Amino acid sequence: MQPVHVIGGGLAGSEAAWQIAYRGVPVVLHEMRPGRATAAHKTGGLAELVCSNSFRSDDAATNAVGLLHAEMRRLGSLIMRAGDANQVPAGGALAVDRDAFSAAVTQALDGHPLIEIVREEIDGLPPDDWDNVIVATGPLTSAAMAEAVRNITGERSLAFFDAIAPIVHRDSIDMGVAWAQSRYDKSGPGGSGADYLNCPLDRDRYEAFVDALVAAETVAFHDWEASTPYFDGCLPVEVMAERGRDTLRWGPMKPVGLTNPHRPDEKPYAVVQLRQDNRLGTLFNMVGFQTKMKHAEQVRVFRMIPGLEQAEFARLGGIHRNTFLDSPRLLDPTLRLKAMPRLRFAGQITGCEGYVESAAIGLVAGLFAAAERRGEAVVPPPATTAHGALLGHITGGHVVTIDAGPRSFQPMNVNFGLFPPLERSVVKLPGGGRLRGSAKTAARKQALSARALADLDAWRGALPAAAE
Ligand SMILES: Cc1cc2nc3c(=O)[nH]c(=O)nc-3n(C[C@H](O)[C@H](O)[C@H](O)COP(=O)(O)OP(=O)(O)OC[C@H]3O[C@@H](n4cnc5c(N)ncnc54)[C@H](O)[C@@H]3O)c2cc1C
Repeated sequence: MQPVHVIGGGLAGSEAAWQIAYRGVPVVLHEMRPGRATAAHKTGGLAELVCSNSFRSDDAATNAVGLLHAEMRRLGSLIMRAGDANQVPAGGALAVDRDAFSAAVTQALDGHPLIEIVREEIDGLPPDDWDNVIVATGPLTSAAMAEAVRNITGERSLAFFDAIAPIVHRDSIDMGVAWAQSRYDKSGPGGSGADYLNCPLDRDRYEAFVDALVAAETVAFHDWEASTPYFDGCLPVEVMAERGRDTLRWGPMKPVGLTNPHRPDEKPYAVVQLRQDNRLGTLFNMVGFQTKMKHAEQVRVFRMIPGLEQAEFARLGGIHRNTFLDSPRLLDPTLRLKAMPRLRFAGQITGCEGYVESAAIGLVAGLFAAAERRGEAVVPPPATTAHGALLGHITGGHVVTIDAGPRSFQPMNVNFGLFPPLERSVVKLPGGGRLRGSAKTAARKQALSARALADLDAWRGALPAAAE
């Protein structure tokens, strides 16, 4: 049987190689380190963790990344097996001894009879006779590979920074203050004229907000990030605020073309707009609010905005070096490049974010590649599972609005906002009383998790048997 080629032995590539070999298909894993380094990796080990040593929460019942852990364990993940075996104490989180973890992954892959590890950079398009390839070269993809991918996908299809505006859970926005309306009621293609949620500020609130932005603590760029030019000028909101007190009022917070139905006679001094971020309509991003503020500062400062006092953030803003594709446009539902289907992408380069998410997308890419090689049906996981929800975000869940431009897709961690809502809301206690507040939120998450694990088991049970 011809091998599947996996390029990049990070979190995603290592997991993909393991899953492919587990299903009886030979793999060649190409990793450029230690011969060629990245700006963040320090060793030649596979699945090296470049920063923190945490896989975040291990709570499968009420935390989406904990649920992803549980699903990956059920799917025989090597990354989770090596993580569990090399845990260090971290409360409710799963943290690992990074060297022992990477050594365990390297040893498992090295010792597998169906896996060959080749230490080389793939510095252009893979040879034509590699008919089933996974590209998992990560956020720091080597320049030559990035150039090759850009040549087939187009100039604007590969970004080198993510400039992320915070994303808010729709049900945490106070609609007694905010309202739905597009500027000048424009509907545009596919719009309704009420596609944005608007949060109004009067003069005093605006001035206080600008003061808070300017005074907030920010995170500095790494040296090697600072020397990479922005793809397109995407200024952090606090930098805009520093440039002049009215800069935001003339920019992303301009109050024109909008009427507040709660106070129709009062013209807002400034308005924060939120735009729908996923097809489900459960997540909204703060338009133009990319930021380098520290996470705690973002929560404090953005909750000063009327209507967002209780905002729950699916992800906070950030700007950092990250090579990633405009995946919803470029990839098919099984992560293959539409323009060249022999190439499948996995890991952070697809627009997921985080060690665990990268490994999970590597896992499904590996399953897809192995099924294809074995001539079996390639069936994606249900959208109700954490794997399916994440895959949906990457390959089609994101909404691209006309004014957002082609690069509005930004990487995201797994979160419950990516899951299809429950068919019935979880508000009733067994005795007939109603759940409220955090108890209601926890019950909803538990129900989403239970549904995910049941659906994952059904999907897993229907997969063709692995040939060990
Ligand atoms: C500086 C930084 C810090 C981060 N910190 C965290 C964090 O603390 N927590 C977290 O959850 N996530 C973090 N991330 C995000 C992300 O989870 C990690 O980058 C994760 O390692 C991504 O997994 P991956 O498999 O997609 O890429 P990687 O793990 O980076 O693996 C890609 C591999 O491909 C190799 N490679 C690249 N180009 C080629 C080529 N042309 N030929 C052959 N091999 C190649 C690289 O050497 C590397 O081994 C961070 C990212 C960065 C850049």
